Amino acid sequence: MITVKIHLAIDEDDFATNTYIVTDEETGETAVVDPSLPEEKLIKKLEGRNVKYILITHGHFDHIGGVNLVKEKTGAKVVIHKEDEEMLCDKNKNYGTDNTPIYADILVEDGTELMLGNSKVTVLHTPGHTKGGVCYIFNNDRVMFSGDTLFRLTAGRTDLYGGDARTELMSLAKIAELDGDYKVYPGHDRETTLDFERQYNRYMRTRFRRK
Ligand SMILES: [Zn+2]
Ligand SMILES: [Zn+2]
Repeated sequence: MITVKIHLAIDEDDFATNTYIVTDEETGETAVVDPSLPEEKLIKKLEGRNVKYILITHGHFDHIGGVNLVKEKTGAKVVIHKEDEEMLCDKNKNYGTDNTPIYADILVEDGTELMLGNSKVTVLHTPGHTKGGVCYIFNNDRVMFSGDTLFRLTAGRTDLYGGDARTELMSLAKIAELDGDYKVYPGHDRETTLDFERQYNRYMRTRFRRK
């Protein structure tokens, strides 16, 4: 069993990104999904926790700004898809304001499995918003973190570096093809469910609706 806490990070330009704190209840092992900003209040929430992973859904600045601080304070391993690694140190690709290096510890690809305590996490490669965008799926709890690929009733933009609209539609179809329902925690805006999106999200519904 995992618990998910949402930490909403808002920067000076009112750019709001969801950072999630995920804890495997039996072991206390914790992961931080997309630490957006180097905030002390995020570090406070992690105090006393065994933070094992920093799970990055994709390499945009608003999903990685807090990675170095969380890593420094907790020793957690930085996880990102191998095709988004190049974005970590390049402001021309991540749209940040500087080239402060961020180093990955674990490069993943489609189907990579990690264990957070007793909870299995499976990587689903969902390119389109970026080349190496992924969803992290907590199989037992039927929970997924969808980054900027799938949002409530919409989908991520595809006009930035590495983006591609057709590829994104294929990724959304791949998500829609998963068996059963999932709780979906996106990179921005509020949470949703996969069944709700299968039914109402026009990017999933129009071309790939399930019977
Ligand atoms: Zn993004
Ligand atoms: Zn974003």
